[in-house]
Amino acid sequence: MNPTDAQLPPFDLVLFGGTGDLALRKLLPALYFRHHEGQLPDQGRIICVARSELSSQEFIAMMEEAARRHINEEEFHQSTWETFCQRVEYLKVDITVQDDYQKLSDVLSAHPDRVRVFYLSTAPGLFRRICHGVHEAGLVSPLSRVALEKPLGRDLESALQINDELAEVFTEKQIYRIDHYLGKETVQNLMALRFGNSLFEPLWRREHIRDVQITIAESLGVEGRAGYYDQTGALRDMVQNHLLQLLVILAMEPPISIDSDCIRDEKIKVLRALKPITGKDVTKYTVRGQYKAGVLNGEPVVAYRDADGVPPGSNTETYVAIKAEIDSWRWKGVPFFLRTGKSMPEKRTEIIINFRSVPHSIFEMPDSTNRLIIRLQPEEMIKLQIFAKGRGDAMRLLPVNLDLDFDQAFKKRQMIAYERLLSDMIRGHQALFNHRDEVAAAWKWIDPIIAGWEDYSVASQMYSAGTWGPAAASALIARDECGWAEEHPDV
Ligand code: NAP
Repeated sequence: MNPTDAQLPPFDLVLFGGTGDLALRKLLPALYFRHHEGQLPDQGRIICVARSELSSQEFIAMMEEAARRHINEEEFHQSTWETFCQRVEYLKVDITVQDDYQKLSDVLSAHPDRVRVFYLSTAPGLFRRICHGVHEAGLVSPLSRVALEKPLGRDLESALQINDELAEVFTEKQIYRIDHYLGKETVQNLMALRFGNSLFEPLWRREHIRDVQITIAESLGVEGRAGYYDQTGALRDMVQNHLLQLLVILAMEPPISIDSDCIRDEKIKVLRALKPITGKDVTKYTVRGQYKAGVLNGEPVVAYRDADGVPPGSNTETYVAIKAEIDSWRWKGVPFFLRTGKSMPEKRTEIIINFRSVPHSIFEMPDSTNRLIIRLQPEEMIKLQIFAKGRGDAMRLLPVNLDLDFDQAFKKRQMIAYERLLSDMIRGHQALFNHRDEVAAAWKWIDPIIAGWEDYSVASQMYSAGTWGPAAASALIARDECGWAEEHPDV
């Protein structure tokens, strides 16, 4: 993790899939912001690669059209944009045609001493081809790195295969596996909160924490992604990566330093300590759901099964809730409730840590659970809910929030996740990227759940679009005498 805002070293960033949605919507705007902040060196080029027949000027026009849609008007500065565009060029390269890599070689060979990032923003089926393509073209230097997007396989076996294929060309130190949740300021602030303050560490354990809830709720349905999504489902799409990464950051032991290897070592230990959910236990510890027709923000939503491209009668889950447990001294017996779903009432990513109630309450109060609430979406914020006496004659305690308002405190624009990740890969910091062992450990925990669902023919339980998921998810959490956040209106 980077402790400074120092300028990045000279680099050539090759963006495979430069005309794609991710590149135009997230990556190029993120690079523009880094340019605007003065962090990109003069010798920093962005080479966008795709098959479309475009000149660099035409590509830049396409990039500008997208940037104007995805960057707020007040943050789009025409003069900085124009200097940013001078860094960008476009190459028409078919990744599957080896001769085409010569075009890349012609551009890169002028600067063999620069950091070279190959960013694979393409379908995963092309990853191996690209790695071999750049290798055979002699483009992989000791200063080269490769960055890749999810999904990293659909089970342990396919993930190992992708990692083995990458390892044919790149060393582990050169591979940057992205989980963009780790680029979010609030996730890094969670580490700052835990390891930069003495206040929380004594409380951060089973003796004081009753349960932890992590929610990634999306208000969107499957919208145009049915082909991919129906083969994937919420467990693979969201739990294997984003939800487990958030759990791991929350639960890891303090690393001995901020060094990438130290952080990754601690993260892997948590994944390996996750109690396996196998066989019939999947019916006890997991809930699989799928949205049916409903109403969201006053608009009708068609059922997942009726969406374009979804096969009739599909059992693919658009919702998952899991009670996870960590077999360690620190966390034994603390339930970690994970859930994610589509077509939920709002887009919200949130971690709630419920502390244990006071052992004996002398005040009039319905509940004495202190909560630490860490919200990543839609806004990034952290608040601590404590109890105080309400104004008036009665000695009645009411919840109040200690808000950590980062906008007020720091008065600096909040970076978007990809800004941090792109900067870190250029400067060679791997802490916010997943090691291959992490990916493997996550799949090792997920695969038995998928197998259990198949073996016990676990059907997705229906929930209406615009609601917080199936009733079975409320029952899952209620068994531990807990409730989801929306059941506590004060949260
Ligand atoms: P996309 O919109 O389908 O873009 C794919 C890109 O690959 C296009 O630029 C396409 O350009 C290029 N391409 C395809 N075949 C090619 C070939 N043979 N040679 C050269 N270029 C080729 O995909 P995306 O949504 O940007 O996603 C990219 C990756 O990020 C995927 O792995 C996806 O799973 C992952 N991801 C995306 C998002 C997101 O929000 N979009 C989020 C998380 C992860 P041409 O057609 O012009 O060749």
